[in-house]
Amino acid sequence: MRKILFVASEAHPLIKTGGLGDVCGSLPPALTKLGDDVRLLLPGYHDALQVAGRLRRVAQLTLPPFAAPVNLLEGKLPGTHVKCWFIDFPAAYDRPGNPYLNTHGQDWHDNASRFALLARVAVVIALDHAGLSWRPDVVHAHDWQAGLVPALLSTHTPRPATVFTIHNLAYQGVFPHATFQSLTLPHELWSMAGLEFYGQLSFIKGGIAYADRVTTVSPTYAREIQTSEFGHGLDGLLRHRAAVLSGILNGIDDKVWNPGRDPHLPAHYSRQRLAGKAQCKAHLQTELGLRAEASVPLLGMVSRLVDQKGIDLLIAALPVLLQQPIQLAILGSGEHRHEATLRALAAQFPEQLAVQIGYNESLAHRIIAGADMFAMPSRFEPCGLTQLYSLRYGTLPVVHHVGGLVDTVVDCNDLTIEQGTATGFSFQATEPEALQQAVLRALLLYRKPRRWRVVMRQGMQQDYSWMHSAAAYQELYDELLAAATKFEALTPP
Ligand code: ADP
Repeated sequence: MRKILFVASEAHPLIKTGGLGDVCGSLPPALTKLGDDVRLLLPGYHDALQVAGRLRRVAQLTLPPFAAPVNLLEGKLPGTHVKCWFIDFPAAYDRPGNPYLNTHGQDWHDNASRFALLARVAVVIALDHAGLSWRPDVVHAHDWQAGLVPALLSTHTPRPATVFTIHNLAYQGVFPHATFQSLTLPHELWSMAGLEFYGQLSFIKGGIAYADRVTTVSPTYAREIQTSEFGHGLDGLLRHRAAVLSGILNGIDDKVWNPGRDPHLPAHYSRQRLAGKAQCKAHLQTELGLRAEASVPLLGMVSRLVDQKGIDLLIAALPVLLQQPIQLAILGSGEHRHEATLRALAAQFPEQLAVQIGYNESLAHRIIAGADMFAMPSRFEPCGLTQLYSLRYGTLPVVHHVGGLVDTVVDCNDLTIEQGTATGFSFQATEPEALQQAVLRALLLYRKPRRWRVVMRQGMQQDYSWMHSAAAYQELYDELLAAATKFEALTPP
């Protein structure tokens, strides 16, 4: 049995702002099912502690630079047997709402200190210095918020093996050099090969430069980030680490995303019995104030409203798209300028365009189930989960041909339809016209319901269960552990 410590800033259903939360909420239980002993370390955010239920204090730590004690609370990831440890330190985490941003949408001023604390606690647990009588074989840290974990652990021997997963390279946790000093991080970590990034402190470099293995959430993204186009300034370092860098595709949590028993839906359906999907569509149209017409194709989108997700491309494509007999249902929140534009367009085209600004887990499920097509015109996409959910829910994804979208969506054309591999529509150029063309191609196929259903069923039968991905992570852990054992065997006593 491998002992794995997951260190992350989100895990569904405790706290989630995007795909990171989905992954850290579903990969640990999948690994547990395969026999591993996985424990999850999270900041004790106000909202997460509310959801967590009964907790007990299992340790009290003193961690510089804080004078006050840091408590460790133990509970379970709801609905699973995965043990969860929360860092109870109200001064850092007792704030409702978004874990990273204040109510004005700005980063919390003390994010560096909040996530350095996460790393420090992780190190104490990893070295079995927290009095928990548990020492992990592998510490698996996720995204920049946990980036300091591999860096800090690298200063200790012996130590567990470390894996760092990049869920999104665009978010790096970069702070002024003064923050490096105020956090009293070890001096040896400050170098161009270490945490320094053009004179500043980079949390994500702590993961990329120091982890024994670095992964991303899709094979294509693992290749793309080694290029200057997608490398966000870190492509050189990533090329340098290419030998330990790989991509493992995310999976879907079948308990949460299954059209056959999804509690958020008004009706259920499956690949064999599709009737419930039409009911989901009619219900969604009514819920969003659109005319409940079965024959009008409905394009959905559930997304953070940021340039990464190509929302500006969709907005620019709308004037042409809205000339077609089509309805659109968009749910999202993010940059105010995109929110405002979408609201204005919805007011202008109330018959065709429904926009809901905000974060609404339940409505997200109903859009993905009720829509015929799902738009994902992302500029870059580390993996993308909503296209996987759409495939599962028989909603044909319309995607930009990048990152995880390349690995998961097969474009519809005569050949792929004939071969039975087509699952959606993809476009190459990062241009509104390319997106328009892809949607227009989808609308053409929509007029051939029998063909449409063939593609729909092809998507629904794809197996993106977590078990595949979890097994791939296990393989990676085993490689690391085998390497560590070999090294120990070679080291003289
Ligand atoms: P990212 O992590 O880049 O935001 P992913 O596709 O990997 O993108 O994951 C996004 C997750 O967040 C999905 O589970 C999606 O349903 C959810 N999501 C995004 N925006 C919203 C929203 N406004 N309301 C509800 N769920 C949302």
